Amino acid sequence: MLKLIKNADVYAPQHLGTKDVLIAADKICAIDDHIELSGNVPVETIDGSGKLLMPGFIDSHEHIMGGGGEGGFSTRTPEATLSNLTRYGITTVVGCIGTDGIGRDMAALVAKANGLQEEGITTYIYSGSYQVPVHTLTGSLMKDIMMIDKVIGVGEIAMSDHRSSQPTFEELARIASDIRVGGMLSGKAGILNIHIGDSPRCMDLIERIVEETEIPIAQFLPTHVNRNAMLFEKAIAYAKKGGYIDFTGNEDIDYWETICDEVRVSAGIKRLLNEGVDDSLFTISSDGQGSLPMFNEKQEYIGIGIGKASCLLKEVRECVQRENIPLEIAIKAITSNPADALKLSHKGRIAAGKDADFCLLNPSDLTVDTVIARGRVMVCGGQPVVFGTFEERK
Ligand code: ZN
Repeated sequence: MLKLIKNADVYAPQHLGTKDVLIAADKICAIDDHIELSGNVPVETIDGSGKLLMPGFIDSHEHIMGGGGEGGFSTRTPEATLSNLTRYGITTVVGCIGTDGIGRDMAALVAKANGLQEEGITTYIYSGSYQVPVHTLTGSLMKDIMMIDKVIGVGEIAMSDHRSSQPTFEELARIASDIRVGGMLSGKAGILNIHIGDSPRCMDLIERIVEETEIPIAQFLPTHVNRNAMLFEKAIAYAKKGGYIDFTGNEDIDYWETICDEVRVSAGIKRLLNEGVDDSLFTISSDGQGSLPMFNEKQEYIGIGIGKASCLLKEVRECVQRENIPLEIAIKAITSNPADALKLSHKGRIAAGKDADFCLLNPSDLTVDTVIARGRVMVCGGQPVVFGTFEERK
């Protein structure tokens, strides 16, 4: 079945202006000023006039089968559902486990990722959890990456954090080596997604590996780099050396800036650009379905929240509306940049031959109008039209 999106203002992510985009099944097959089809070929036309067309968003760090549990078993968080990803423009998600690598394991993560893929989006996973040695599916990290289609790296391994298993230099270097070679042999990124905690050691261990071994800095994707000002300063220096850095987005942006002293994502990205950091080196992920301990102004614990996938678009909106960052730069953080960091060459851009993953936004307020995942309309008029198997339709 062919679909033709007509007269949309295209951000590929670079701004291309008004274009038509032709989709055949799950691929983009043409993009041009005017596309007319002759003959009796059935085609579904989607009117893109007055809308912004961009690649479907990529969330590179989401606890798709739930996470948390740090306050006891009753604080384990629920699984991600299809429409709570698609309604916010997300068409590709990378699943990870988190702190609890015992109560949740790799087999269950593969099953959850397969489920979301069957429901219509594209999914990948990281092998392991916070812990080192890494809990793999096959008994070998290199084998996981080479032989399990969905595995594109390892993570989130925790460091500089009281919950980390405190990997040594040698242990982390061996992991980086295994996934680099496993990635090379299977044509994947072999990325090392690393949870950075609050400790002043920040990314020291990664930087030592880059300095003392032959492993390149692009093998690592440190996340939560905006969790405090000290870490963010180090992240700027790290990015200036050519390393990818990943911001964790927030749904309640003011709360996390004022109560928890996080660096606001939009302000952080503005700072990176002002410092001359390459605009292809930063990504934003949601940490969706992760648990979020909440505190009041007196730093007293008041309960537990949950990470939301909605924050990706919210943070991009802030970049544009609050910091005046051009839209074509801001959306790189959730489209082409994660695609490049994770070596997902068929994702993150609008061009012939790429996967037909799109998000059509309303230009006045940058809200979602239509979402297409692998050629299938998932959201229309801002409302999901495809739901996960056991979701309530609302
Ligand atoms: Zn984390």
